[in-house]
Amino acid sequence: MNLFTWKRCQICRAEVFNQRPLCRACFDQLRDLQTTERIERHDFVIFSLFSYADQVQELIHRMKFKEQRYLAGVFADFIVRFLQQNDLPVDAVSFVPMYRYKKWVRGYDQAEDLATEVANRLELPCIKILERTRHTKSLYKLDRRQRQQVMAGSMSVRDKKPPGYLMIIDDILTTGSTIDACAHALSDSEIEDYFFLVLAQALQSS
Ligand SMILES: [Zn+2]
Repeated sequence: MNLFTWKRCQICRAEVFNQRPLCRACFDQLRDLQTTERIERHDFVIFSLFSYADQVQELIHRMKFKEQRYLAGVFADFIVRFLQQNDLPVDAVSFVPMYRYKKWVRGYDQAEDLATEVANRLELPCIKILERTRHTKSLYKLDRRQRQQVMAGSMSVRDKKPPGYLMIIDDILTTGSTIDACAHALSDSEIEDYFFLVLAQALQSS
């Protein structure tokens, strides 16, 4: 029997001698980068945990494009901490989905990974409530108005009776046009009990 279970920090690979996924230094560094914000849209709220910059940007990039899916677990711990510290009532966890072809190409959907990890930790159901109805081109270089035009009507609701209060997770918030399209679809289905949570907010380009 191995009395000293150890593993490596999932960010810096240093050995850690407890059951935590991060070493103390990496945990403290990420915690210090946390810039929790509450963003009010017309009829819903978005919580954002970090700014999309520096180390957070790098970690999200690794999670999204470098197949380092274990980083979803690292961020899930921060999401759970945020919910517990703020006493937010959640009955089910969901996510802003990728278009299914894009997910097939990448092999996974990082927002779904985040939602699954959070739901597991809280012992809540993870449900796919939204679906992208079509492929939308990259929003990266578009301004706010163009993004809204591209995203309009691009989401639909799959499950019209979610179990109670929903938290819908996404990774990055830029202009919010993707989340607006989600909110529009939810409102068409008369689903009102939800909030969005994004890992990081990017500086708006327009
Ligand atoms: Zn570390």
